[in-house]
Amino acid sequence: SGLIVSFGEMLIDFVPTVSGVSLAEAPGFVKAPGGAPANVAIAVTRLGGKSAFVGKLGDDEFGHMLAGILKQYGVKAEGINFDQGARTALAFVTLRADGEREFMFYRNPSADMLLKPEELNLELIRSAKVFHYGSISLIVEPCRSAHLKAMQVARDAGALLSYDPNLRLPLWPSAEDAREQIMSIWEKADLIKISDVELEFLTGSDKIDDASAMSLWHPNLKLLLVTLGEKGCRYYTKNFCGHVEAYHVNAVDTTGAGDSFVGALLCKIVDDHSLIEDESRLREALKFANACGAITTTKKGAIPALPTADEVLSLMKGSK
Ligand code: ATP
Repeated sequence: SGLIVSFGEMLIDFVPTVSGVSLAEAPGFVKAPGGAPANVAIAVTRLGGKSAFVGKLGDDEFGHMLAGILKQYGVKAEGINFDQGARTALAFVTLRADGEREFMFYRNPSADMLLKPEELNLELIRSAKVFHYGSISLIVEPCRSAHLKAMQVARDAGALLSYDPNLRLPLWPSAEDAREQIMSIWEKADLIKISDVELEFLTGSDKIDDASAMSLWHPNLKLLLVTLGEKGCRYYTKNFCGHVEAYHVNAVDTTGAGDSFVGALLCKIVDDHSLIEDESRLREALKFANACGAITTTKKGAIPALPTADEVLSLMKGSK
């Protein structure tokens, strides 16, 4: 199957050992490898697809640990660079009472922000059938230039561009800056996945409906997806739009559900770009992606919760 190259950050989340406490009250933390683009790359290989991760890690114990995890899951690692000076990024994560996650980042700067355009493995990027990325790599130079160059190289080589902005407001100088920069690469993407929260943020309206989603449409876009947690997802194409219900599961931790959803969908699309134009086949692919996201919420952490294709198919069968 075709190669999915995922570009961006990989880091370690430190998650309190007990839930529902503030960072100050937490008695201890456990390491949880993450970073949305890395999660997507692993989601793909778990499902039996082929992926590579492109990004920079610190030349430290954490950086090598993360590279080891990618390799352990079969993600191609030729696109990983190690920075001699800066540390691997860390984030401390708390779950607020309303269930939303709150992040405190240690990036001053971290290695991922220091990837330079000339460090990109262009041969690897040119071999991508799908090139996937977020927006965190747009926040500062030189990583921003590396991101823009990698996108261009992938596009010129014929890859489908897949964008999940993954808004992390605390990392941006201001909300206006976040919106402006996230939108600055909007029209380059073939496929965009946002969450309901991101839809509100990007449109500046508190309405989550078709009109507000369609206000984000651009002429070159092939597929826009809005994920709605336990309500499933909505899809928009040039010719049709609709809703695919979520699967009922006992959710314990939603971390990584969106990345799992994206990884699953990209696995379906990578060898069959035309699936996007056929509503019934697209709906099947989105059911698969919803099931994949649902399973990811049933276990703690992102990466350990990513399912295999068999697990996804068995949830889909059981729910019919
Ligand atoms: P993330 O938490 O990774 O940032 P996200 O906000 O991008 O996630 P979600 O909408 O939470 O994405 O989840 C993606 C998909 O996973 C949903 O469209 C849905 O199919 C599935 N999913 C998420 N949460 C649940 C849930 N509680 N029950 C069932 N399915 C879920």
